[in-house]
Amino acid sequence: MISEKMKNIMKSGSAIRAMFEEGKRLADIYGKENVYDFSLGNPSVPAPQTVNFAIKEIVDSVDPLTLHGYMSNSGYVSTRKAVADNLNKRYGANFSADNIVMTVGAAGGLNVALKAIVNAGEEVVVIAPYFGEYNNYIANVDGKVTVVPPNPPTFQPDMGAFEKAINSNTRAVIINTPNNPTGVIYDENTLRKMSEILTKKSKEFSSVIYLISDEPYRELAYDNEKVPFIPDFYANTIIGYSYSKSLSLPGERIGYLAIPSEADGFEELVSACNVATRILGFVNAPSLQQLAVEKCVDEKTDVSAYDKNRQLLYSSLSEYGFECVRPQGAFYMFVKSPIEESEFVAKAKSYNILLVGGKSFACEGYVRIAYCVSYDMIKASLPSFKKLAEEIFGK
Ligand code: PLP
Repeated sequence: MISEKMKNIMKSGSAIRAMFEEGKRLADIYGKENVYDFSLGNPSVPAPQTVNFAIKEIVDSVDPLTLHGYMSNSGYVSTRKAVADNLNKRYGANFSADNIVMTVGAAGGLNVALKAIVNAGEEVVVIAPYFGEYNNYIANVDGKVTVVPPNPPTFQPDMGAFEKAINSNTRAVIINTPNNPTGVIYDENTLRKMSEILTKKSKEFSSVIYLISDEPYRELAYDNEKVPFIPDFYANTIIGYSYSKSLSLPGERIGYLAIPSEADGFEELVSACNVATRILGFVNAPSLQQLAVEKCVDEKTDVSAYDKNRQLLYSSLSEYGFECVRPQGAFYMFVKSPIEESEFVAKAKSYNILLVGGKSFACEGYVRIAYCVSYDMIKASLPSFKKLAEEIFGK
């Protein structure tokens, strides 16, 4: 007999995973090359060669009792120092190893951060559209999800609505920029304003409101767009970073939390994150992967491959009559559904195009296209998108 809480979580399911499974089923029927699966954010650019070289070298050179042994919950000091130096170099931060906790990807990091700060019943504000798993992570700590409604067509968060969402029961805000599912990068003005509101509200309620910045897509920005570094504006920031997309290592489960020393209750907060890492059962981030990212901390994925996909897909879909905010980062496009969302998802599927409805991101009336696929697949899918448009717009 499973718990009531799990029953609810399982009932809501994951539309993304369900569509991915559907893609595999259709590929068996029609052939892989005839199914255009845009459902999952699995990188299509392989990890840089240097990552594989680093892993081989580590396996051959590091003492196995160290490499495969337990370690401190926050991870190797040398890895944390390499991460801190990288952030200092790029953003003029003033981090040391003490500001970094290595995590089991962004998902692990977010769960650790929430576990460390949220009391049961406290509110965590999220901004729609958002990664649906946040609902589960917040439920894990018995927190309450407060949703700021979406602000189309730009999807820059509306600061009036944001301010209204903050109250004396707010413990944290989660933001994600570059954003999954819109590909929008929140601009500096918006983030400065958001920080001002949080500072004002913290004073008004005599509380500490943490801003958790979920950043798995930080390195995926196009057209020289800058992704603002949130601690520049707000000290009570917890950065949740991941190498899942930036080094194409989603199955290896490696990332980190970065917490500025100026954050309220800094030392206790970092200690709580270490304990949360342990008691959530992660114990520590994977040893081999920590040492690998330490060696490859300055490596970059080939963003130009995603950019090529973005440009072809965006220009083609616009030409066919679809409306979409031009993505600035990540590898997603959020297209306005010209008809009722579930009908559009079903119609697209009848052309073997697999998309995820905006409902999964708390933003009905849209579909997400994950364009982290091969360029050839994008090219091959275009005639089907065109036919879909012709059917819907009657051209
Ligand atoms: N946050 C967002 C916005 C994501 O899109 C994802 C994965 O797709 C995650 C977190 C989880 O990332 P990770 O694989 O690093 O746990």
